Order: sequence, then C-alpha cells, then structure tokens
Amino acid sequence: MQPSNANGVYANFINGKWQPAASGETFENRDPANGELIGTFPRSGAADVEAAVAAARAAFDGWRLTPAPKRGEILYRVGHILQERKEDLARAMTREMGKVLMETRGDVQEGIDMAYYMAGEGRRLFGAVVPAELPNKAAMGVRDPLGVIACITPWNFPMAIPSWKTMAALIAGNTVVLKPATDTPLSALNLAQAFADAGLPPGVLNVVCGTGSEVGMPLVRHPQVNGISFTGSNAIGREVNVAAAEQFKRVTLELGGKNAIIVMDDADLDLAVEGILWSAFGTTGQRCTACSRLIVQRGARRELEARLVERARALRLGHGLDDATQVGPVINASQRASIHRYVGIAQDEGAKVLCGGNFAEEGDLAKGTFYQPTILSDVTPQMRVAQEEIFGPVLSVIEVATLEEAIAVNNDTRYGLSSAIFTRDINAAQVAMRDLTTGIVYVNAGTIGAEIQLPFGGTRGTGNGHREAGLGALEFFTEWKAIYIDYSGKLQRAQIDS
Ligand code: NAD
Repeated sequence: MQPSNANGVYANFINGKWQPAASGETFENRDPANGELIGTFPRSGAADVEAAVAAARAAFDGWRLTPAPKRGEILYRVGHILQERKEDLARAMTREMGKVLMETRGDVQEGIDMAYYMAGEGRRLFGAVVPAELPNKAAMGVRDPLGVIACITPWNFPMAIPSWKTMAALIAGNTVVLKPATDTPLSALNLAQAFADAGLPPGVLNVVCGTGSEVGMPLVRHPQVNGISFTGSNAIGREVNVAAAEQFKRVTLELGGKNAIIVMDDADLDLAVEGILWSAFGTTGQRCTACSRLIVQRGARRELEARLVERARALRLGHGLDDATQVGPVINASQRASIHRYVGIAQDEGAKVLCGGNFAEEGDLAKGTFYQPTILSDVTPQMRVAQEEIFGPVLSVIEVATLEEAIAVNNDTRYGLSSAIFTRDINAAQVAMRDLTTGIVYVNAGTIGAEIQLPFGGTRGTGNGHREAGLGALEFFTEWKAIYIDYSGKLQRAQIDS
C-alpha cells in the first residue's frame, strides 16, 4: 500500500511512475500529536509541474475517448481497493494529521462513497435532448470534459476532498494534477496508489507534492491547465481566483465557514448537547463546517451552557490512535497560536472564557500541538470571534430572544456554508429551512456530516457559487456542447425560415 521506499521517502506520482522532485529536494511531515516523523516528501517545483501537466495533457485524448462506463469501472475498483485498505489508510491519516481514528475511517469512507457514486455517473452523465424549431432537425446538449484539471486541497480531509475532486473530474473525462496540502501528502499518495492498482492509465491522475507557491500557483498559471478546483482558505482562494482570471479559467472555490447551531427554548437539549459537542469539537474544530457559533434562545441559555461546559471539560485529548481519545491535536504550532490569539481577542472585546482557553500540555500532550476545548460566553454577533473563521476547538455562545433574531444573526457573516436548528416546533423548523442563507441546513442535527450525493458548498464568501459532490460536481467539471443535426437535405435557417 505504501508508495515509499523502506526509509519512509515518498515520491510524486507522475505519468504512472513514482518520481522524486526534479531538484531532489524534500520536506518532512510529522505527527502533530507527538512530533514523530511520518516521512519525507518531494519538495517539487516548476519542472515537476511541467512534467505532470505534460503527462495529463498527453493522456487526455485517450481518457476522454474511453467510454464513460469504462471509466466508471475503474472507479468501482478504486472503491473496492479503498474498502479493503480502509483501516490502514485511516491509521496512516490519523498519524499524518491528528484526527481520531473513528473520523479518519469516515474520511476514507467518503472516498469509497464517492468512488461508487461517480462510477454510477459513468452510466448517466445526463445531457439534454430537446425539440428543434425546424422540421427534420434534431437538437441536443452533451457534456464535454474541460481538459486538464488542477486540484488543490487542504489538510483537514486528506482523502475525502481529493476523492471528491479527482473522481468527479475523472468520470467526466478530464485528466488531473493533484496538489495536496504539505501537512497531508501521504493520504493523497495512498489515493494515487489505489488508482494505479485499479488500472488507471498513466498520466490520467498525477500527484505533485510541495508548497502552494512552488507547486500550487504554477499549476494555476499553467496555460495547459483548463480548470482549477480549489479548497482552502479565503486568502489563498482569492489569490487563485485572481491568477486564474487572467486566462479566463474556470475555477471552483470551496473556502471558509462560520457555521452556527441555533437552539430554541423548546429544543430537546440532550440531543442539542450531543450535536453541538460533535460539531464544535469533532476534528478538533478543524472542519469547514465546524460549529463555531451557538445561537441560543434566552430561556435555554444557562442550562445549555452549564451542560456544555461540563461535557467539554470531560473530553479526552490525546493521540488519535488511542481508542479513549475524543479530541486530537491541532494541525500545527502556527495554527494553534492563531487559535489562542482569537481567544485573547475575544476577551479583549468582552467575552468570558467558560472553559478551556489555553494550550493543553499535561503529560504526553506536551509533545504535540493540543488546545483545550474552549467555550466563550457573552459573545455578541459583531465580535471578531463571531465573524472570523478560527478553525479550532472554540465555540462562541450568542444569546438571542427570537427565531427571527437567531436567523438574522446566523446570516450576518461573510461566510455561508452550514447552519443548524434544534427545535421541536415544525413551524420554526420550516421558517429556518426557508430563511437560513447557507448552502447546507440541518434540522435537529449538528452542522457537520454532509452526504456525498447532495451538492456541497456555501454562499457568500464561502465560495464562488459552484458546488462539489452530487450532481453539482459534474456541472463544474463539464462543458456543455449544443449539437444540431439537420436531416432535411436543404439549408434551413433558425429564426429566419418558418
Ligand atoms: P490553505 O488555503 O492554506 O491551503 C489550501 C491549499 O492551497 C494547500 O494545498 C496549499 O498548499 C495551497 N496553497 C497555498 N498557497 C497557495 C498559492 N499561493 N497558490 C496556490 N495554492 C496555494 O488552507 P488550509 O489551511 O490547508 O485549509 C484550511 C481552510 O480550508 C479553512 O479555511 C477551511 O474552512 C477550508 N476548507 C473549506 C472546505 C469547503 O469545502 N468549503 C473544506 C475543507 C476546508
């Protein structure tokens, strides 16, 4: 399974072969829970990007002309292989980026689900057949692939996000160059190995490891790259979008979130507590859909706060491979410092720390980058902690009086990814479903846990209007071509002849 040599030295996957960076340079990746070395990976540059794009370009015609159901058969095999290797892949991922084993198994499972879903699309890829306005004439719309797609991915879903992107791109007939985050190259290489073992032709999928400036931006700017599928932060997403605009490239951006759970006075509080803890502290708060705001109606606030604080204090931090661990480390030291800065900013603005609020460094935790699950109270909607993405285990409690106020507070941020409401009132739930302006809405569940058969993405600053997964993905990865077939044997002129 491991595409490395015996010394933990990993390579890029270009044109079906494992290759070091042309420069020979490498970077290290370490376990954020204890600092252990995971391996060394190629620190690639322009020459590697050139080789990968050339391979993808050369493979494009062969792949585009492979019937989509046959492309799907390869994806089915990828799904089977990931299923067989699920436990090993999950363990490798936990060591690579810290989230607990239960969650890394789920991350691999998303790859499996997407493989099967997109394999099925190989027998659909629906187009449109419509009547022509002239006699003896046929009209239809078909989907063409874009060409070479660059997929640039973050570290928090190291196999799921690369799977979402590559599998949708490939089933549509595109070829791909994937650049994973520098914190999680191994899971992307493991995915490439599954594709290779499933019989994907050389060059159809390539993986180039390295930094955003040395690999990501050269890919975005490369004239032979036709489309860019990016998931990451707003700051980098903007740079990618601006650079791609110079060549009128199609770009999908899946960016940050500031997701909220609304809890009404009539809610089932037992259920709400479970949903909030899972959404706020699962993946150590490092999900784009993580709940970072709790918008609670006045009557439920005190009891909910008390119960959440008790439960958050009891969460067990540790290495994600330990079955007893509920919360793993933060991805790296600079992210932990950023989280801690936000807690300070919140206090300066008048918020109160109910629990947590500092590094967790007792015993073995000192070896890693752990942060205490943190709950902030007396937060008001315009404070920076209520507006900006923190991307860590920090929950801000905002009190409201009514459903209308709760919805207004939810909608008033620059992000619009996920939101949730806990209520037993069907009318309140209906109003929330109608008026919450996020791309994903949950009723009586937390803000995390999207399923792959529905479109995934957000409104406002969370992206640029595209959706991943479900049918939405194929809209991005295909170009419509309208075809008219005139079998009248004479020149007929649309809009002119009647
Ligand atoms: P990031 O923006 O720092 O990096 C994302 C990717 O972009 C990495 O592969 C990185 O190497 C690359 N990159 C960096 N600079 C680049 C440049 N100049 N040009 C091209 N590529 C460049 O994000 P991150 O820290 O890895 O991930 C966390 C962010 O991702 C959070 O904001 C989170 O909300 C977001 N995210 C969004 C979704 C979603 O679907 N909306 C899902 C997961 C994560």
